[in-house]
Amino acid sequence: MKIQSKLPNVGVTIFTIMSKLANDHQAINLSQGFPDFDVHPDLLALVNKYMRSGHNQYAPMQGVAPLREQIADKVLALYNASYDPESEITVTSGGTEALFAAISAVVQQGDEVIVLEPAFDSYVPVIQLNGGIPVYVAYKFPDYRIDWDDVRKALSSKTRLIILNSPHNPTGAVFTETDISALKDILLDTDVLLLSDEVYEHIIFDGLRHESISRYPELVERSFVVSSFGKTYHTTGWKIGYCLAPAPLSKEFQRVHQFLTFASNTPIQYAYAEFMKNKDIYLSLSAFYQQKRDKFLSLMENSRFKAMPCHGTYFQMVDYSSISDESDVEFSKRLTTEHGVASIPPSVFYHRQVDHKVLRFCFAKKDETLENAAERLRKI
Ligand code: GLN
Repeated sequence: MKIQSKLPNVGVTIFTIMSKLANDHQAINLSQGFPDFDVHPDLLALVNKYMRSGHNQYAPMQGVAPLREQIADKVLALYNASYDPESEITVTSGGTEALFAAISAVVQQGDEVIVLEPAFDSYVPVIQLNGGIPVYVAYKFPDYRIDWDDVRKALSSKTRLIILNSPHNPTGAVFTETDISALKDILLDTDVLLLSDEVYEHIIFDGLRHESISRYPELVERSFVVSSFGKTYHTTGWKIGYCLAPAPLSKEFQRVHQFLTFASNTPIQYAYAEFMKNKDIYLSLSAFYQQKRDKFLSLMENSRFKAMPCHGTYFQMVDYSSISDESDVEFSKRLTTEHGVASIPPSVFYHRQVDHKVLRFCFAKKDETLENAAERLRKI
């Protein structure tokens, strides 16, 4: 039987490949982004409480009310953004589902979608599944800034959507107010929509402010803003995220979401709703991860790897050009198999060939894990 692939160029994701390689070779896994430390015991107790008290059947399609209310309160307090929990907030099965639903809700055959690359690997396949055409604008190497004139030039009468991601995976770049004003400028008099992937919103360093698109009313009316609890509460395996969007966009979003997963895990939603009342947890997350970043940087100081600036996320990009001429894919594989440390080769986040000698390391790890990894990396 002949099967016509809808995604002929898509293989197994790099995260699966590198995590498997790390396991097969008992390497320290700094590749796929997930913490190796425990979840807060109170959060575990809350999940248990809601499971035991019978909250085990389908949640409402748009998410349980207490969680939507907590999300609304948080974004009001942090970003002065007012989203109606009834009609403008949808809880999803992870950020990835929210991205899928948002793109599918608005991208039609032949629509162009501007993707800033390197780009998280799920965006483009979803655009293509919906018959859309990705149009790429590159972050300038090596300081990973966007030249908004490039974005302006990429706009056409067919542009339907621009996908944004700040703090940015894999580079750790973050948008500043200047980026946002340039963006506002180029969108004036257009109907272009925005999808803003903000899953690392609480992991931002050096006193920088997270420029959530939800802060900007002129942008909110055309935007889906996606976030996730996995990054914030060290629970990437629980797969709960959410999407904020004005009612007309949320309506279209929910039309897709209700047939994609219908609803997300019920007891975990109730647990997050109660746990979120402790604002200190997410308000102190940036400081927690800044310490991890600085620890990793100081451990790597006397190595031949050169750290690049990292303003947010739990990823650190490093330049290995003084060590090897290999491509990042070759080098990251050899680093895993021969030196016992797994990383992600960022070239897989590009549609075009790039030959940047950089790797992405995840520092969401116990100090001990970072120390052991750095000890191996310093020997190279
Ligand atoms: N977001 C995580 C990363 O970039 C992994 C996501 C995944 O495994 N699909 O490493």
